[in-house]
Amino acid sequence: MSSELPFDPENPPDEPPPQVVHPIAWRLAVRLHREHSPLPAEPPIEVAGPAGASGPTGAAGPAQTFGPAGPNVCAACADPWPCHGRQIAVRGLIAACRPRNPGGERQSRDDR
Ligand SMILES: [Zn+2]
Repeated sequence: MSSELPFDPENPPDEPPPQVVHPIAWRLAVRLHREHSPLPAEPPIEVAGPAGASGPTGAAGPAQTFGPAGPNVCAACADPWPCHGRQIAVRGLIAACRPRNPGGERQSRDDR
């Protein structure tokens, strides 16, 4: 997957990369990013029954699958992942890397 982002959107560094033009915005976004993280994936629960309790069950398959076992909710707000807070955080990180004016030219002093 190719990305133009100068950082890892899953794990942005605390210190703003050199490309960041708004370090304050970066730090705020990183803070929000850390807050809104997915719930850690729980280890598969293995039923430790007493040995010898063997009985044929009706299910033919060895295990039922409930879809991907990855995190699907936010640990902070419990919203479906990726939650709104995380999306805002990533947007903030991206915005912090880009100059506010697309032109990038310094404003001329005309108002004095
Ligand atoms: Zn969240």
